[in-house]
Amino acid sequence: MQLTDSVQTLKGVGEKTAKLFSKLNIVTLRDLLHHFPREYDSLESVSEIASLVPDRRAVIAGHVSAAKPARTRNGKSILTLSLRDGSGQIQALYFNQPYLLQKFRPGAFYYFRGVVHQRGKQLLLEQPSAYTQEEYRELSDALWPVYGLTKGLTNRMLSSCILKTLEQITFPDEYLPAYILQREELCSLPEAFHGIHFPHNFEEAERARKRLVFDELFFFVYMIRKQKGYAAQLPNLYPMPKGKISGQLLKSLPYDLTKPQLRTLQEIFIDLESPYVMNRMIQGDVGSGKTVVALLALCKCVENGYQGALMAPTEVLAQQHMAYFSDMTAEHDLPFHPVLLVGSMSAAQKKEAYRQIKTGEANLVIGTHAVIQEKVVFRNLALVITDEQHRFGVRQWESLGQKGAYPHVLVMSATPIPRSLAIILYGDMNLSVIDELPGNRLLRQNCVVTTSKRAASWRFLEKEVRKGHQAYVICPMVDSGEREDSLLENVVDYSAMLKEAMPGDIRIEYLHGKMRPAQKKQIMDAFHAHKIDILVSTTVIEVGIDVPNATVMMVENAERFGLAALHQLRGRVGRGPDQSYCIFVASRDDEKTMKRLDILNHSNDGFFIASEDLKLRGPGDLFGVQQSGDLDFELADIYQDAGILKRCSELVEEIMASDPDLKREEHQGLQSVFQSGILNRLDFRTI
Ligand code: ADP
Ligand code: MG
Repeated sequence: MQLTDSVQTLKGVGEKTAKLFSKLNIVTLRDLLHHFPREYDSLESVSEIASLVPDRRAVIAGHVSAAKPARTRNGKSILTLSLRDGSGQIQALYFNQPYLLQKFRPGAFYYFRGVVHQRGKQLLLEQPSAYTQEEYRELSDALWPVYGLTKGLTNRMLSSCILKTLEQITFPDEYLPAYILQREELCSLPEAFHGIHFPHNFEEAERARKRLVFDELFFFVYMIRKQKGYAAQLPNLYPMPKGKISGQLLKSLPYDLTKPQLRTLQEIFIDLESPYVMNRMIQGDVGSGKTVVALLALCKCVENGYQGALMAPTEVLAQQHMAYFSDMTAEHDLPFHPVLLVGSMSAAQKKEAYRQIKTGEANLVIGTHAVIQEKVVFRNLALVITDEQHRFGVRQWESLGQKGAYPHVLVMSATPIPRSLAIILYGDMNLSVIDELPGNRLLRQNCVVTTSKRAASWRFLEKEVRKGHQAYVICPMVDSGEREDSLLENVVDYSAMLKEAMPGDIRIEYLHGKMRPAQKKQIMDAFHAHKIDILVSTTVIEVGIDVPNATVMMVENAERFGLAALHQLRGRVGRGPDQSYCIFVASRDDEKTMKRLDILNHSNDGFFIASEDLKLRGPGDLFGVQQSGDLDFELADIYQDAGILKRCSELVEEIMASDPDLKREEHQGLQSVFQSGILNRLDFRTI
């Protein structure tokens, strides 16, 4: 079997399963092997029944003291077991598995593993897994992978398919030179894939991960180096000498720009007037005011008679920019004729937009990356601004310019990256940093609590809603199908629970990334228009949303997020004149978790927060923490893997200096990777 073969070549995978796989973007065996575990699970050590606490997963070792079958009114079977150990007794329930009565005879001894639930005053286990003593012993010194799932696909199915693939696949020949493998202490590819999916311990998983991260970063850096200097030599075909209207706009804004905003704007204007095309990144924390800088830059572009484009990562954000630009145009009599271009528009609407862009009737296009790059033909596009992105691929660039006429590019990013890393990652771009938040904002109040304070937090939300404000609640999961037997909150069930707990007149809706764009837009519009009081959401709202009336950000399972991601989330509130609040709910209260989250209480500096986060994490923690999702590497994380990134950068420099055309024998493997074209995948789609 080859990596490029379809998943259907696996025995037992038919059309139906393949379709489920495709929902997870798994089409080939390569995709399957690259569906890395979210985290690893291992058996807990045995707890006494008397010491169990609700909402935790636990293992008990007990004898079955009674087994009672029963039926519900609608005919479903329930089996109730009474389990006993030296310390006490607990009940376990099994639904629709009447045959288990045979297995769980009174007196039988098993290890039971499951989540402990509270029902009234009683604790019970629902559908716990049962292991014999031998099975338990065997499992207790292994880690097993936990994958992101979709409804209909179980973790067991997925891991068995991956195991089969690993057993039958022919791995490609090693392409990294032997001296690199040796010097960097990297394992082989087959070892890496085995080790990432089925490690025996965390050290093994870590070793596997290191190899895979190395590959990802090495080729990434290599590609960037090859492009370095590219932009600097491109001539500026769109000089912008005029600046009267943008100058007036700057004066008539209702506020003064901050110093770093002004400096950034100046740098941009100099670029636009210079003999070379602009390739610049603005790095500025959430709320630092990047949008107005984009507005001024685009204004200069348009007043010089060119077209501009503003691209956002989501439709919601594109709509928001559209509203802002339209308002500003009306208010300040600006020369913009903007059109919107997003996926949810009808074919006829899109066609009309394409027409206006082609003729030049529209001189500003605002939309999502995907749609703008699809079929648009511009009349004279001179400036492309991407919001909340980190990199603009050369291919993207080429596709937008006409016949080699490259437009100016400005990339705006809120992910804090230390300068030393930025030089490696963005060495081909000029960097402007906005490192000051606009003044007179009230500081957000933060608190970190455990789930025991959830009810109190809800009452707080209610109070804010009664004051006329709005709130966000963030959950890590979309629905219960994503992970079996999950302790993580999901948007769908959580919003049902919240509706139950809140007075009926409080309007609660949910939003997540799997919804259709039109649906998402409808919900976001309703939230903007204050037709929704509380929005329960996944981190899709992390990026750029601006609803100044929202004053509370509550995050469930906060320990599951990287601090940088939490910091981004809290930037969604505190955008208006009223006091705002962040409530981080941790479902674990161990000292390390609390210490990590506590950093958020003491700093508002994204750079600092991200680096402190890393210092506090140890080996087992490296998995299962959601980092800020917007630097879109498969496995690598620029904070966590900063060391590997630096090493890769050094190695690439070394190779490029000593053997730029990869002629040496030991570099044949690398040469073949580049020739094979697989790296085109790496067109920095979003990186
Ligand atoms: P981000 O950098 O996260 O995209 P925004 O551009 O959305 O931030 O700006 C956040 C808020 O700050 C907006 O409501 C914007 O109008 C406001 N703002 C921007 N610059 C200033 C400034 N110099 N003084 C006061 N408010 C500002
Ligand atoms: Mg923004």
